[in-house]
Parts: sequence; C-alpha cells; structure tokens
Amino acid sequence: MPENKFITKILHTKFLKEDPHGSLHMPVYDNVAFEFKSAQELELAFAGKKPSHMYSRISNPTVEHFEQQVRAITGAVGTVALSSGMAAISNTILAIAKTGDNIITSRHLFGNTYSLFEQTLKDWGLETRYADLTKPQEAGRLIDKKTKAIFLETITNPQLEVVDIASLSKIARKGNVLLIVDTTMTPPYLFCAKEFGVDIEVVSSTKWISGGATSIGGLIIDYGTYDWKKNDKLEDDAVKYGPFAFINRLRREVYRNIGACISPHNAYLQSLGLETLPLRLDAACENTRKIAGFLEKSPAVKSVNYPGLKKSPYYHTAKKQFGNKPGAVLTFDLASKEECFNFLNRIKLIRRATNLHDNRTLILHPASTIFCEFDAKLKNEMGVRETLIRLAVGIEDYRDLIADIKQSLESLQ
Ligand SMILES: *Cc1c(COP(=O)(O)O)cnc(C)c1O
Repeated sequence: MPENKFITKILHTKFLKEDPHGSLHMPVYDNVAFEFKSAQELELAFAGKKPSHMYSRISNPTVEHFEQQVRAITGAVGTVALSSGMAAISNTILAIAKTGDNIITSRHLFGNTYSLFEQTLKDWGLETRYADLTKPQEAGRLIDKKTKAIFLETITNPQLEVVDIASLSKIARKGNVLLIVDTTMTPPYLFCAKEFGVDIEVVSSTKWISGGATSIGGLIIDYGTYDWKKNDKLEDDAVKYGPFAFINRLRREVYRNIGACISPHNAYLQSLGLETLPLRLDAACENTRKIAGFLEKSPAVKSVNYPGLKKSPYYHTAKKQFGNKPGAVLTFDLASKEECFNFLNRIKLIRRATNLHDNRTLILHPASTIFCEFDAKLKNEMGVRETLIRLAVGIEDYRDLIADIKQSLESLQ
C-alpha cells in the first residue's frame, strides 16, 4: 500500500499505547505524576532505559500524541510541543548556542523574536547579525567560527518577503551552521521544510494549527539533518546520539529546566485543530487570492502585496516553495493614515484584532499597533508604512468578505 497522504496521517496516527477504553481521540491526561509498579521500574525509568511518563512537565501522553501527529506529517526525527511559539524559538536558540556565539538573521522578524535577539539574548552575550536574506550571499559573508545558526521566517510580516530557502540552506551547509526556519506563516501542509534543506523548523501552533486561534502553543520540529559534531556545545551528544543529539539534549536539559511545556488541554485542542488544518488552509488561501484580485482592481487601493500575485517580486520563489498557497496574509496601501483609520472604522464584518490565522478574518493598521514601540527610522527600515493595512484572512465565504471591504472602500469616496 502507498504511504498515507497528509490529512490521513493526521487522523490515523497510532497511539503509542493502546487506550484501555478504545477512545478514538487521545484523551486529555490532565494529571501531573505517573505511578510505577516497583522500585526497579522507577529506577529504569529515571535512567532512561525504559521510556515512560513520570511527570507532566517533562512528558505527558496527550502532549506526546500531538507530537507524534506532527512527526508523522513532517517526517521529522523528533518533535517537541511547547507552551508558545516564543518558547519554541527561545528553547531552540538556548539549546544550540552559548555566550560569545552569534546568530545570523534578517531585521524583518516577528516583533517579539526581534526583541528576544536584541534584548533578552543580547544580555546573555549572544550576538545577532542582520543581513538581507533575500540575498543569501550576504548571510554567507557574515558566518565566522562563532556562528551557530541562520534564522529566518518563511514569509515575513508585514513585508511579506520570501527568501529562497534552498539557496540559503546551501550556504548554511557550506558554512557548517544550522538553518532554523519559523514557518508560522506557512505551517506544514503549505510548506515541506525537509525538502528545502531546513534543519530545524519552529512554528507558533497558536495560529493555524490550534484550529484557528483556540489556544497558545509552539512546536520544535527537528529533521536530524545537521551534523552536530560541528556544534561545540553538542559535540559530545553527537558522538552518543548521532542525528538525535539536539532533540535528546533539548529534552534532557533546556526544555526540562526552563519548563515551558504545553498544557495537556492545549495539546488536545491543537491536536483537534490539526485534524482540519488542510481543509482550513485551502479555504483561507483561496479567499486570500480572491480578495487580492479584488483589491488590485479597486481605484482607492494604491498597492496590494501578496506573494501569490504575479506582480509580486517574490511570486516565483513563493510558487517554488509553497505551490499555489503562499499563506493567508496580505497587505495593501491606502492614500494616508487617516484614510486607513476611516477604512478600518467602517468595516462591519471583519474583526479589528491583532492575531493572525484565526478562522475569522482580522484587520489591523500595523504602524500604530504592533510596531508602535519602533521609532520612525526602524519602521521605515522594516517597510511598516503609515499607509499600510494588514488583512489576515479567515475561512468565511469570500463573497461576504469582499462585500464588507467594498462597502468600506466606497464610503471613503
Ligand atoms: C505569533 C508568532 C510567533 C509567536 O508565537 P506565540 O505562540 O504567540 O508565542 C512567532 N513567530 C511568528 C512568525 C508569529 O506570527
């Protein structure tokens, strides 16, 4: 029989232990500790000789099933579910780098990730070097002996810039550094990270995977492709565990000690969300394409930015990496900030809110909200114009969405 396809894999991921009641859904194990039959069994469990759940901060059956589902759809060697997307990013960096090391990334980053690099990790002596990653050679030139990784997002927000990940992967391999990619904008199903040479994928499962913003969560997905002997912090682990060096060290150290585990209840919600992920992503991407087409024809709209539009500078790279579904976020410009505010205030159906990838369509003026802490120069460097509106498209009927946008645009004239 051929291998099951994506959605079938999600729905039929086997439980690691048979459920005593034959439950079809992995139940929520909302407990802390697990009991053992004998002192000998406890000893074996603590020595790691007989894998078992002991304490839910370290592992839990509901969380483990969610991780198994993600492993099945991605072909990863290991996955870890955490309390948030930020926990996934910070745990990954803490596990691979130490004081005096550096990471290469782009200035076009999710705001909290930028702050993690520029404030939190900087205080611990980790340097961040910025490059224009749309020119992969620029990243290559910044690599030195202390560089541990190149970090990027598949589609940046709100610039909607797309980097050629396969080229960047070649440069990372040549420089012996790890390639970490945040795929929140194009989660598994839209983007197959393994095919493009990503070593470690991090994703905020708070967004699409949770079922459309039901709960906070994050994932670390390790493809086992990096040679850990090349990372001085993990050399010894590489000798013992080979491709499992990172995931093993993460579980035994950083993940366990920092304690940013996902709650079993949230893991359950996210596992349910995963079951319908492909259906919802198909609908949202199709809606985005239709709305982008409508906005392109509207005279009040100065420009429309979506990697799925033929006129986008990233159209070809996006097509190669994400096929016909380059995410469900688009931006567009109106004449002025005042016009943006008027437009937002006259919107009736679409919700004014700061999230992405809810099942509902959300709208926002980035310059006055999520980027309000950034000064004018930084906003300019980040392409956050005062005239820019961001639309994070949901799964409603596209005709209702277009009608709402149309009535608000018409009222501007
Ligand atoms: C939301 C988001 C995060 C952070 O995820 P949380 O689950 O909110 O911690 C990280 N990266 C990107 C690209 C995001 O959109």
